[in-house]
Amino acid sequence: PAKVIDGKLVAKQVREEIAVEVTRMKDAIGIVPGLAVILVGSRKDSQTYVRNKKKACEAVGIKSYEVNLPEDSSEEEVIKHIASFNSDPSVHGILVQLPLPRHMNDENILNAVSIEKDVDGFHPLNIGRLAMQGRDPFFVPCTPKGCMELLHRFGVEIKGKRAVVIGRSNIVGMPAALLLQKANATVSIVHSQTKNPEEITRQADIVIAAVGVANLVRGNWIKPGAAIIDVGINPVDDPESPRGYRLVGDVCYEEASKVAGAITPVPGGVGPMTIAMLLSNTLESAKRTHKFK
Ligand code: NAD
Repeated sequence: PAKVIDGKLVAKQVREEIAVEVTRMKDAIGIVPGLAVILVGSRKDSQTYVRNKKKACEAVGIKSYEVNLPEDSSEEEVIKHIASFNSDPSVHGILVQLPLPRHMNDENILNAVSIEKDVDGFHPLNIGRLAMQGRDPFFVPCTPKGCMELLHRFGVEIKGKRAVVIGRSNIVGMPAALLLQKANATVSIVHSQTKNPEEITRQADIVIAAVGVANLVRGNWIKPGAAIIDVGINPVDDPESPRGYRLVGDVCYEEASKVAGAITPVPGGVGPMTIAMLLSNTLESAKRTHKFK
């Protein structure tokens, strides 16, 4: 059976390492990393995400700043707040919680974030640098960065290996494919229009699945011994659970864990890594700004 890639455990280790570094920096130069979070509207799920991010900051000693704007705010108002965080030296990371209200243009808003404080890594210039040979972005998007961190920490060799990324979204699939390529894997991207996805996936030594379809990837899609990173978080009905549902990944865990060499569970795999990488990006930004090694 496959080795379980325990993201919850790794995320805890990463958070502990960050806490140590935050203290070391504060003691040495008196600087505390700061993260600003902008939330527009009152979506319950977004409020929960923002609350969790704030709590995670506090736990490692990162200062958090929050702005809540009403649903009917204008783009200009949001951009005004971004601009003020851009010029605030106590803020090293700025994050605009997505999705934004329908009347706003995501690109206009994300473009307003200084690329040097873009800890989500969603600014087109950061994505562009991620795609270029010999260049590095200021920040790598948190979820794909978390996937790579799991592969590294579990000793999965990437160089020269075949990797398949299922899904090509701007926040997960596309940057994950770029990162694997930068790490010298040979990468294929499987998406909604791909013919014979199972045949292509079966060639992969490394699979990253970020689709949003419960149990799409079956055991017979997987090459024996492959490393599987399952990003999907999908609710499925479960009358036995108190909430009436439970969460499963894009990969059928029961089948895949019999074939794969290593696999992330859902929940407890990639999920906990995302916030840990946000903290890591914020610390990295503060260190870079203050030239602290
Ligand atoms: P998305 O909807 O933006 O993108 C899904 C991608 O999957 C698209 O590129 C599409 O082409 C592809 N796709 C759709 N159907 C397909 C099919 N049948 N076969 C192959 N490809 C198909 O989703 P996203 O934002 O990338 O998120 C994907 C999943 O990851 C979701 O379940 C989401 O909840 C989860 N997610 C988890 C984290 C985390 O762990 N922290 C973060 C972000 C997203």
